[in-house]
Amino acid sequence: MEENLTLHEASFVSRIDGDEIPVHPDSIIPSPNHLLSQFLEDGLCEYAFYYDSNKDICYVNSNLMSALGIAKPYIEKPATGIYEFIHPDDVRIFDQAFAWVKNKDRESLRRDFRLLTEKGKVFWVQFAGISEIHIEGSGGNLVGHLIDITHRVRWEIQHKNIIDGSSAIVFFADLKTHETRYSENLRQLLPDAKLEFEGDLLASIFPFVVFEDRQRLRDSVEQMIEGKTGKYSTEFRLQRPDGSRVWISCRCKSFFDASRQAKMIAGNLFNLSEMNQIRENVDKSCILHEITELPGRGRLLLDIEKMIHNRYVMSAAIVLLDIKGFHTYNDRFGRKTGDELLKGLSQMLSDRLPAEGILFHIHIDSFCILWPHATRLQVQSFMEFLQQETANPVMIGQDAIYTSFSMSAALFPSCGSSADELLANAEITLHKIKKEKWTKHAIYVPSDKRELKEKLDFEFQLTKALRNKREGFQMYYQPLVDAASGSLIGAEALLRWLSHENEIIKPEKIIAGLEATGYMDDMSEWVLEQGIRQCSEWLDAGVDPQFLIHINITAEDLMRPTYSESVFRMLKKYSMSPDNLILEITETSLMRNISICRQNLIRLRNGGVKIALDDFGTGYSSLNYLRELPVNVIKIDRAFIEDIQRDRFNHSFISAIILLAHSISRSVCIEGIEEIGQADFIRDLKADSFQGFYFGKPVSTSVFESKYFKNGYKQGRPSI
Ligand code: C2E
Ligand code: MG
Ligand code: MG
Repeated sequence: MEENLTLHEASFVSRIDGDEIPVHPDSIIPSPNHLLSQFLEDGLCEYAFYYDSNKDICYVNSNLMSALGIAKPYIEKPATGIYEFIHPDDVRIFDQAFAWVKNKDRESLRRDFRLLTEKGKVFWVQFAGISEIHIEGSGGNLVGHLIDITHRVRWEIQHKNIIDGSSAIVFFADLKTHETRYSENLRQLLPDAKLEFEGDLLASIFPFVVFEDRQRLRDSVEQMIEGKTGKYSTEFRLQRPDGSRVWISCRCKSFFDASRQAKMIAGNLFNLSEMNQIRENVDKSCILHEITELPGRGRLLLDIEKMIHNRYVMSAAIVLLDIKGFHTYNDRFGRKTGDELLKGLSQMLSDRLPAEGILFHIHIDSFCILWPHATRLQVQSFMEFLQQETANPVMIGQDAIYTSFSMSAALFPSCGSSADELLANAEITLHKIKKEKWTKHAIYVPSDKRELKEKLDFEFQLTKALRNKREGFQMYYQPLVDAASGSLIGAEALLRWLSHENEIIKPEKIIAGLEATGYMDDMSEWVLEQGIRQCSEWLDAGVDPQFLIHINITAEDLMRPTYSESVFRMLKKYSMSPDNLILEITETSLMRNISICRQNLIRLRNGGVKIALDDFGTGYSSLNYLRELPVNVIKIDRAFIEDIQRDRFNHSFISAIILLAHSISRSVCIEGIEEIGQADFIRDLKADSFQGFYFGKPVSTSVFESKYFKNGYKQGRPSI
């Protein structure tokens, strides 16, 4: 301080006065003049300085000395030395301030930046100064002061954090200066909106307000400006750039001057749509299943998401469990028993949950286990374990009910990195498992998704072709021959589709696609019409009047109460006798739906149409039914023929069926004969007719005609 006083007392001739600068007695450092000395030392509770760029020295007052923690009342060579006192992030502001000083003569300057003390402490200052530049532009003086604004800045930062942290958008409108300011989070809603706006308060937001809501908003704001009300709340909609609309709730308050003129309006805007979403999520997470009281799908998704973001969870799994054929329990035992079964199964699963596993009831007939930290091996053996456990019945009162699950799992992170993706992938695999006969559980693999995509693409192309006048669909015909003479007795109509990639698609795949897309009925009718039309054309052209057209039908066809009438109508349309028609239905599908199909079968038989039981031997093969069913022909599946010369059982089976069938006046057709040896071997067993590649593969109409009617249609029965 002593040194300080001495310095300030030294005489000083200002450059402004054009005089020489005296030299300080203790050093070569020049001193400021008396007036400046006074300015730097007295009366100022702020920080003051005087910079002489000519000598490159900056005099500071005692306040600034102690704030910066320096021992001398000046900073030498501040053009470079000053930077050790400037916060690195604010160097640019500081430089701008200096450049400004140089370029703008005698104008005052205000800038905020941070200073650093020698000990690294930071404080905010607001700088205001006046510069004087020499005419020759080689240097100049700058006098200024710094106000410590650390307290204010901290408060402002805190204030901003509060606003940013809240989901509300804050705004202030100065009605005198017509300036409106919004908090930055307005940009989350409206990326193009201005945060600072000059002009009418409403004009700042009106372009984004849905037209119908503008008047309501205008009314409320005008009431406030006119001083009719001090507080106001209203709701309106904002149109976002992506086209979506969000509901906004606006709460504001006005501030008045002494003459009760509104001078400022301050308020908040809340995004109600976002709040509703939050509420919905909360609701979803609270809903428990009404029967099992387990949390549901909404909660599952939230919990998976939470688990994924838990940094201590490196692996996890979701396991889906679908009760096989649950609706049949409801249908057979009633709703009440169905509910009890669900409770019993949820209890069974809860008792067997892995440690940390959580059970959810996500659809009426499916559960899900969320299992943090699970590994592939654990999941695999858990699903096997559950499969074994379902060998035990669920007891409902005195009744033991046997059930089983189709199960699938998706592992985190390998099978998905979001709740939606994990659940969707587990569902893809479950869908696949449910269709498989022998597999009961599997973990998702990417090929499951590929297969599903291919299936969906195929179904898309199939339905597109169907709608496009059934483009590419056609019937192939395979000959049927008399077993004894080898002469042609008929043809089976078999569906084919020439896909857009010129691939000939087989009927099983086509039918699966048609069933999945709901077009099977439509196609059945078309197939029936094609077969009947073709046969009647051949008959008209002179083919043997006994010629039989075999058309495949499904149990679903026979379940339609009016199916038999539609067959008779079609026969009438093409003037074909029912004697020339055989409808083939597979043994398995017929047996499963026998009671519903029986009426149509009887009507068809009574009307003269013959029925063949297709693929016999692969299903129930109930000999008892054979007698009762209105069936004319039994077609023994080709599986029994393949090894017929060596397999004694197959030989005995065919022999027994032929004997039995003949005893009840049914005829027998053997399918799948590929070699002459097979035909000869079976002929001795007295089968009635044969079908198989040896006699002819399925071919298109033109090929069939050129092969089997090559000598004209009126040739009697061609021998194959
Ligand atoms: P299916 O009614 O038993 O028809 C006989 C199937 O066996 C045909 O297969 C035929 O190509 C094949 N086949 C015939 N002889 C031999 C042989 O010697 N060796 C071998 N390996 N196979 C032989 P395709 O055409 O693939 O038809 C498969 C099944 O699809 C049919 O079995 C039938 O159940 C169904 N299907 C075909 N077309 C239609 C249709 O238009 N409507 C309905 N509902 N089902 C159809
Ligand atoms: Mg058939
Ligand atoms: Mg068959």
